[in-house]
Amino acid sequence: MTQMVINGEWVDASGGKTYEVKNPANGEVVDSVPLGAAGDARAAVEAAVAAFGEWANTAPDKRAELIMAGIARVKENLSDLTTLLTKEQGKPLFEAGGELHHFLHGMEFYAGLASKIRGEMAPLPPAMNPKSYGVIMPFPVGVSVGIVPWNFPITLMGTKVGPALAAGCPIIIKPASTTPLTTMKIIGLLNEAGLPPGVLQGVTGPGKTLGNELISHPEVRRVALTGSSETGEQVMQVAGPKFKRISLELGGSDPMIVCPDADMRKAVNGAMIGRYWNAGQACLAVKRLYLFEEVYDEFLEALVDKVKRYEPGDGLTKAEKPNIRIGPLHTAGQRAEIQEQLADAVERGAEVLVGGDIPAGLDNGHYYNPAVVVNVSEESRLVTEEVFGPVLPVFKVSNLDEAIARANASQWGLGSSIWTNNMKWANQAAREMQSGMVWVNQIHYGYDEMPFGGVKASGIGREHGPEALDYYLEPKSVVFGGLD
Ligand code: NAD
Repeated sequence: MTQMVINGEWVDASGGKTYEVKNPANGEVVDSVPLGAAGDARAAVEAAVAAFGEWANTAPDKRAELIMAGIARVKENLSDLTTLLTKEQGKPLFEAGGELHHFLHGMEFYAGLASKIRGEMAPLPPAMNPKSYGVIMPFPVGVSVGIVPWNFPITLMGTKVGPALAAGCPIIIKPASTTPLTTMKIIGLLNEAGLPPGVLQGVTGPGKTLGNELISHPEVRRVALTGSSETGEQVMQVAGPKFKRISLELGGSDPMIVCPDADMRKAVNGAMIGRYWNAGQACLAVKRLYLFEEVYDEFLEALVDKVKRYEPGDGLTKAEKPNIRIGPLHTAGQRAEIQEQLADAVERGAEVLVGGDIPAGLDNGHYYNPAVVVNVSEESRLVTEEVFGPVLPVFKVSNLDEAIARANASQWGLGSSIWTNNMKWANQAAREMQSGMVWVNQIHYGYDEMPFGGVKASGIGREHGPEALDYYLEPKSVVFGGLD
């Protein structure tokens, strides 16, 4: 069994209950974890409260040193962690390895920033005291909670742990119920490497009880959620009235626009990775593709050819050459929802060019053949809802104004991309796309160096970049007057 990490110790749930984590590729039990309850959440918060003062006052370069020591321990265990992530999540080994590297890069980025946190001096009007001046001192906000989904459990833990620890905040991580294993191992390694007890903790169990207790606890000052918009709403209802610092990284339905002058090879690759990486279970995935009519046929033909090369299978194995391995969907419910969304589009007249069915002979896992769909009605669920799986609806557009208007006609606003060499078009898209991030000739990817987050129903606040630190720091205003 993989235990929880509370106050620097590996522990069971206070009630002694456990639950099993199953492999989406074959239904086999990977391991079991404690079924944490409200009392476990309270124990973690108490330990974090006790750790806060010392961690906030630990010299920033010492904080960085301890984070880096933890990173070194993770690197020593990279191969085992990669395999474990594939087993519990389902993604192929090369994707799991990529996720762990992204996590390490982000942690190194924030370790580097720990000693760069600084305040400002503000000149003040002389009316009260001619010699007064203001200083804005950043202080850590306090005990923080990070609630993480199952699609990228490790990078999305890192986007919370990195800035929290760098800023001087203790943080408690609650992973999704179905992906707690690699998370707990990494939290254990970071603790073993020297983090003081209570600074980084991990608890396992259901969001509705354990998660709810964490975010409603009066001593928790900061809540960072990555999850669905429905969960975001619940978190706002619980933590909002308690005036906690909240950031919500929620769903998305990223549009990708391909103009006639785009580099077609690169754009097709961008759509492939953008839609089918992680079996399409990504927030910033390309979920609506808008092709100019001049390149519609050529692009679609190349795309469909490539999608046919995907071979669903266990993430621990390689696809037969020259095919590309695509893992199972994470749960049976996830696959059922994708099937229903596609069926709805077909009922409204859509045509499936490739995929969209369950591959034969793979009955033990939640496998699904990746799909490309055309003639999709704007009213269909593939357009109005978030599609969290490998189904790509493709639309024909006549000009950029039409493409941007249709791209923006969505409740979501996480990312968007335009593929063109025309600076005028690129500039228009960058200004007019209603999304937190715009990529020009670039796959939808969340760089640690750039602020990451959405507008509209995609959430509030930002992770990544130096900007993420602002959500873990209070700008305390100190006025110095009458010192003469
Ligand atoms: P989810 O909302 O079901 O769960 C996310 C986390 O919240 C889990 O740890 C869950 O246990 C917890 N939770 C659920 N109810 C809770 C409650 N009432 N109180 C406290 N915690 C609670 O999401 P999921 O299915 O795990 O992940 C998929 C969703 O996440 C998709 O909508 C996807 O777009 C979104 N996502 C967004 C981003 C982003 O950065 N914008 C990144 C990845 C995933």
